[in-house]
Amino acid sequence: MTTKERYEGFIQWFSEHMPVAESELKYENPFQLLVAVVLSAQCTDKRVNMTTPALFQRFPDAFAMAAGSVEEIYELIKSISYPNNKSKHLSAMAKKLVEDFNGVVPDDMDLLQTLPGVGRKTANVVEAVAFRKPAMPVDTHVFRVANRIGLVTDAKTPLETEKQLVKNIPAEILSTAHHWLILHGRYVCMARKPKCEECGIRAYCRYDGKRKK
Ligand code: SF4
Repeated sequence: MTTKERYEGFIQWFSEHMPVAESELKYENPFQLLVAVVLSAQCTDKRVNMTTPALFQRFPDAFAMAAGSVEEIYELIKSISYPNNKSKHLSAMAKKLVEDFNGVVPDDMDLLQTLPGVGRKTANVVEAVAFRKPAMPVDTHVFRVANRIGLVTDAKTPLETEKQLVKNIPAEILSTAHHWLILHGRYVCMARKPKCEECGIRAYCRYDGKRKK
């Protein structure tokens, strides 16, 4: 099977079976999404969604968060992983948003990455999800699933994976395809025990229970 045929099969199956695919994080504006994505590093979306309502009630925007203390942020997020680092990042991020961007989350990959705690993946998520831009954030699920299926070959890093996916998936469905890969990795193509028997795209998968095709 050629890579082109794999992509066609992958896109066709998901377009049919999961036409709408969105982030599982709860947010109401780009600032809230940015905060939720920073909190979601090494943590489940479910846990983040349990934490953010109280956090956003106390800090509805960058101005409120910038005026608050690191300790207060910590108290509100301490049930998630790495609350020390994350509370420091959120505080510094909110201050920079206020100082340099008038409290508005910038719609630009390079500017987003000037914010403390925001790397390429987080910036890509904000671009894809909040601003509906064609972007392919590569997290652990996207990296594993894209490599397993054979959508990418010999991609050793998230950036290589991102580049190959961006090259082969039409821009207008790129951010949706990002959610397809994440949701597939979360619920079907899990790291330790992928459910190949019940997988809808096994006919297009290079791995498929370790059978090379
Ligand atoms: S066939 Fe198995 S390895 Fe391939 S995508 Fe489906 S669950 Fe993942």
